[in-house]
Amino acid sequence: MKSIRWLGHSTFIVTTDSGKNILIDPFLEGNPVTPDAWKSPGELDIILVTHGHDDHAADTIPLAKKTGARVISIVELSALLQQDGLPENQAVEMNKGGTVDLGDVKVTMTSANHSSSWKGKYAGDPAGYILKMEGLCIYHAGDTNIMADFELYGRIYRPDVAILPIGDHYTMGHEEAAHAAVMVGARYAVPMHYGTMPVLTGSPETFRDLVEKHTSGKTRVIIPEAGENFADQIS
Ligand SMILES: [Zn+2]
Repeated sequence: MKSIRWLGHSTFIVTTDSGKNILIDPFLEGNPVTPDAWKSPGELDIILVTHGHDDHAADTIPLAKKTGARVISIVELSALLQQDGLPENQAVEMNKGGTVDLGDVKVTMTSANHSSSWKGKYAGDPAGYILKMEGLCIYHAGDTNIMADFELYGRIYRPDVAILPIGDHYTMGHEEAAHAAVMVGARYAVPMHYGTMPVLTGSPETFRDLVEKHTSGKTRVIIPEAGENFADQIS
């Protein structure tokens, strides 16, 4: 992996060794945390959408049209995006447990314990994603409550990096997220979905302290600055 950047909220951009740009949860225009330099993310190959809520999917269609990127999402959300103008040949619909092979990255869809809609319409189940690359596995949990599946994902996929929501109110807070990090057992945990709006009160520092205490330092917490490439913090 060449780079991984947090762009605020649950939005991340990953560049693989071959230079493929993968954007997870496109929420940039209206995202108060996204740095100006990343409001328009440039060339994209793949967009992964965890669920249809605006704070995860708002910029999906304009970015797909602008960049020609393929858009991976669950079947029901994919149908709604296509109705609203996502070109059919760019839509990759899948479902939980399935894996899509994109060359130097394989993407598996996981469960998430949350809800999902697109412009007020039911958009299927929410999801998370496992990204398997050469020598590195990243788990982006999407929006979720704590769930027993974390333990299974840790056992089956052995992620190196677990990206977990900690904000509270709409997802688990830092307490539950710290337990989730223990269950996944990745070498690194990265907090997301906090601080974007006042109700998202989860603290990344408290999350870090709890995770490092519960795992005796086996899981290191990385708290990236928005826009910062933190690939070099992952060994
Ligand atoms: Zn959300």
